[in-house]
Amino acid sequence: MSSRHEGSGALPYRQSRATPDQVRGRPLAGSAVAPSERVRVKRLHERGHYDAETIHPILDAMPICSVGYVFNGSPYVTPTLQWREGGHIYWHGSSASRMLEAVAEAEVCVTVTIMDGFVLARSAFHHSANYRSVMVLGTARKITDRDEKEARLKVFVDSLFPGRWDMLRPMNAQEFKATTVMSLPLAEASAKIRTGGPKDDEEDYKLPIWAGVVPLHMQIGGPIADKLNLAGLAPPAHVTGVKLG
Ligand SMILES: Cc1cc2nc3c(=O)[nH]c(=O)nc-3n(C[C@H](O)[C@H](O)[C@H](O)COP(=O)(O)OP(=O)(O)OC[C@H]3O[C@@H](n4cnc5c(N)ncnc54)[C@H](O)[C@@H]3O)c2cc1C
Repeated sequence: MSSRHEGSGALPYRQSRATPDQVRGRPLAGSAVAPSERVRVKRLHERGHYDAETIHPILDAMPICSVGYVFNGSPYVTPTLQWREGGHIYWHGSSASRMLEAVAEAEVCVTVTIMDGFVLARSAFHHSANYRSVMVLGTARKITDRDEKEARLKVFVDSLFPGRWDMLRPMNAQEFKATTVMSLPLAEASAKIRTGGPKDDEEDYKLPIWAGVVPLHMQIGGPIADKLNLAGLAPPAHVTGVKLG
């Protein structure tokens, strides 16, 4: 993604603080940019995208990410939750986490994947998957400032459950100390997207073999109240109306 459009920090995005969409920040219109060489999609390059308008919605629609890093010479890929605010993604965890210790100020590769369907072709070779995925490369930064940490964690909670942070018992000093938050600029990122049906060899279309797509969706279920909830507590709108993206 571009460094030509960089605003505050490394990023071509504005940030704000109100609704989930707003706290996540909106991309500037027309922020299509040339990818760096290492994030340029080579294999099936027509599926590659590098603009915020494509990348941000994928990140916002899928809170699960995989953080790739090297620790003591071995590669690890750790699944965790991510959230986006403007032109950065963030993830957090226990300050005792090996992953969080290993990625601080280190080069990482973070991926986010949404699978939209199995694609069944008329030959095994042409079976495929429909998906939207993002890969981000860069140096992860550990957020050490307590107020910045709090601001980022508030966005994390409120982007999933709007308004919840202010309803919660405030985090105490020990909890802030026990929590590490990492940030990664979306300055070098790619999306790869496959849509549509199978692409078979021409001669295979006459074969009596069913082909098509089996769609796949992540579903949000109804809330299940904790049995220790105080009597008479109804789930707030941010619980009954959870949505991703
Ligand atoms: C759900 C799912 C299932 C897939 N199944 C298969 C499979 O079975 N076999 C297979 O070979 N591939 C599969 N892919 C595609 C796979 O992710 C790679 O794109 C592909 O293997 C090519 O890898 P490469 O290293 O040769 O890509 P290159 O094009 O050489 O990679 C260069 C750069 O392109 C970008 N890039 C590459 N792939 C992605 C991606 N998926 N998302 C975002 N940016 C990307 C990265 O920045 C990378 O550094 C699948 C992807 C998804 C999301």
